[in-house]
Amino acid sequence: MIIKPKVKDFICTTAHPVGCAESIHRQIEYVTENGRINGPKRVLVIGSSTGYGLASRIALAFGNSASTLGVMFEREATEKRTATPGYYNTVAFEQEARKNGLYAKSINGDAFSQEVKDQVISEIKENLGTIDMLVYSLAAPRRTTSDGTTYRSVLKTIGEPFTEKNWILGNDTIEEATIPTATEEEINATVKVMGGEDWEDWIQALSNAGVLASSFTTVAYSYIGPELTYPVYNHGTIGMAKKHLKKTCDKLNESYGASGLRAYVSVNKALVTQSSSAIPIVPLYFSILYRVMKDMDLHEGCIEQMQRLFQKKLFAGSPVPLDKEGYIRMDDWEMKPEVQERVMEIWSQINTENLKELADTDGYWEDFYHMFGFHYSNVDYEKDVQP
Ligand code: NAD
Repeated sequence: MIIKPKVKDFICTTAHPVGCAESIHRQIEYVTENGRINGPKRVLVIGSSTGYGLASRIALAFGNSASTLGVMFEREATEKRTATPGYYNTVAFEQEARKNGLYAKSINGDAFSQEVKDQVISEIKENLGTIDMLVYSLAAPRRTTSDGTTYRSVLKTIGEPFTEKNWILGNDTIEEATIPTATEEEINATVKVMGGEDWEDWIQALSNAGVLASSFTTVAYSYIGPELTYPVYNHGTIGMAKKHLKKTCDKLNESYGASGLRAYVSVNKALVTQSSSAIPIVPLYFSILYRVMKDMDLHEGCIEQMQRLFQKKLFAGSPVPLDKEGYIRMDDWEMKPEVQERVMEIWSQINTENLKELADTDGYWEDFYHMFGFHYSNVDYEKDVQP
């Protein structure tokens, strides 16, 4: 099959296995060239197949020789349809890990379910004994709880609707978009899906099963961003969920701290991933941010962020550097005053005519296509491949 990108709005419905493998190779190369990480050696990554979770897994495996067990929710290929990129990424990661003598297994299923938790626990018991780290990097649109209720997360504001400039990705124009306000029910549902409840369920299940090592680190990922995007992010439904995630972190430290657990929330940089490109208004901010951070030589992708998180912050000795609210700040470069001042200056000037000049739309699209395994100059996309 010759596989070409099929892009619709903010999603590509095809993925290229060779291109996804190329993206894995490049991330491994980055990690192996950038020094060792002195971290835990038996790691469970929830949300391990794309974006920040995948980069965490690669950094901890190839920069730290960790055994990694991954959980993801991805679709296999069929006769007519390619697999999702996370599926191809995982196959390529496992192949490389095994070539390097590293244990790497992945469970493809719903991380919210008890069934997947049970599968993970038996795999740990059978092959790892205990684990000493859990990376919680889920970005999910819905969650079905044990009583059969399905909650759907929404990206809406709280209180007032919000109108701002928006980049229409399909035709490169700037128009205004209005984000509607969420109902109480939608806020609660978003917290159920993207808050900390399931993270806590995981820790509890692992602890009850006796598979947590006596010294144990867990980290979940969050985002705050600039005031400009507060109505849609930090003060919106997703922001509420992220505040719940932080409360959960504090609760985990209280409940399990005495038994050797350390929980953290790392606030990461804004980056194009499958979930973030679905948030309205935010892609324009991303592409301006890319331009500014690249011009200032401060730009990082997921792998650079995760390598720096583990090497320079989380496992660089104690105490782990935290801000006054207790967060690890991997958005430290994004939030530098000189970066934000320049971004806001551009934001006020940007329109359809100067979009390509003032924002790094090409960089945005390059990251977007790379996520699905396309646009790598050293991959032959005319060649027949087995999906
Ligand atoms: P992503 O879409 O690239 O990855 C999501 C992962 O979750 C994938 O591995 C997917 O398979 C998995 N997943 C989704 N639903 C699942 C389910 N039900 N069961 C098992 N696995 C499931 O997302 P990302 O952007 O890397 O986000 C990861 C975390 O990082 C999120 O908490 C997000 O809020 C946070 N974050 C993202 C950004 C950003 O700009 N992308 C910035 C800061 C923080």
